[in-house]
Amino acid sequence: MKNLFKLILLMVAVFTLSIACTSNDDAASTTTVTEDEVVTELHAAYSAFNTDATTIYIDNTGTNVVIETTGLPDHQTVYWGEGHPLYIEEPDVQVTPSIMSSNNNAVTITVDATPNLTGNTVSTTFNTIGIAVSGASIFNDQEGGGPLDQAAASLDYTGAHIGPGVYHYHLEPKAFSNDDDALVGVLLDGVFLYGRKCSATGSYPEDLDVSGGHTSITQYTDGEEEYHYHIINEVYSNTGSYLAFAGPYQGY
Ligand SMILES: [Zn+2]
Ligand SMILES: [Zn+2]
Repeated sequence: MKNLFKLILLMVAVFTLSIACTSNDDAASTTTVTEDEVVTELHAAYSAFNTDATTIYIDNTGTNVVIETTGLPDHQTVYWGEGHPLYIEEPDVQVTPSIMSSNNNAVTITVDATPNLTGNTVSTTFNTIGIAVSGASIFNDQEGGGPLDQAAASLDYTGAHIGPGVYHYHLEPKAFSNDDDALVGVLLDGVFLYGRKCSATGSYPEDLDVSGGHTSITQYTDGEEEYHYHIINEVYSNTGSYLAFAGPYQGY
């Protein structure tokens, strides 16, 4: 008798479950593609970020990733200032007066967990355009509203300076990506930026769009193809190096 009761309970449970599954399927098929995609896990590329500087999490909507950073990179530069363990001499750099440790470098950005690649492109603007894996900001090809050329002499060996806000990269950040396929960071549209080479082929990609982007596998996509940017393999102006990113964003 007891066993029969259990059996009936089980049958009711199975029946209820099958109804629930059916209605879920209906809901999924009517979801429009313009809605932001809910994710439950951070993209694997975020595991490459400097955990001393950054705190990265999915927000309560499940559609955005929040990146909080102290802005302080985990590599050497003249901009740490004498006395800091990561300070190095760079006699050729016309150092801007600010000392990194006295500035407030903290930045928080919120990006799409799944970039929207179907809309219009959006121009980059002056200020933080992304966060690098080191924890510091990425800027575009502008310096205080003008071209970068005039400020080029103040850039350190890794293409960065303080100007006078946060420490930021304009050029290929050689401290962690030097003519290779390393992850550089994530931009404000949620699209990842890689070095000049692509892990899919081991060489410079030849199918890049105007933003330096294309779709292929990367070392963080587990065999899946995904749209991403590369630092474009063309020496920029008088800098002797390569621009990190000029835009436009494709993922807004
Ligand atoms: Zn700058
Ligand atoms: Zn690529």
